[in-house]
Amino acid sequence: MINQIRSCPACRSQVSRRASRCPHCGRPMFRSVWPVVLLIVAVVGILWLVFAGVGQAAKERAIQEQREANSLQDYDRAMKRATGN
Ligand SMILES: [Zn+2]
Repeated sequence: MINQIRSCPACRSQVSRRASRCPHCGRPMFRSVWPVVLLIVAVVGILWLVFAGVGQAAKERAIQEQREANSLQDYDRAMKRATGN
């Protein structure tokens, strides 16, 4: 549902969304684009930071797991050598 009516921020009267200015007080009712643009920029920036952080953490975790796997394999090999299997 698209709300076709909004209230004028200056005089609080109901104004059609298609009106370019408030018929009661004459305040320009241009579509407020900048808050939306700023919100999108902020969301994209936050998402970028989050994904960059998550990606970095995942990379470090993968490296750590690889190191642990390698040391386990070394341990296995050492045990096999020690037990003669
Ligand atoms: Zn008004």
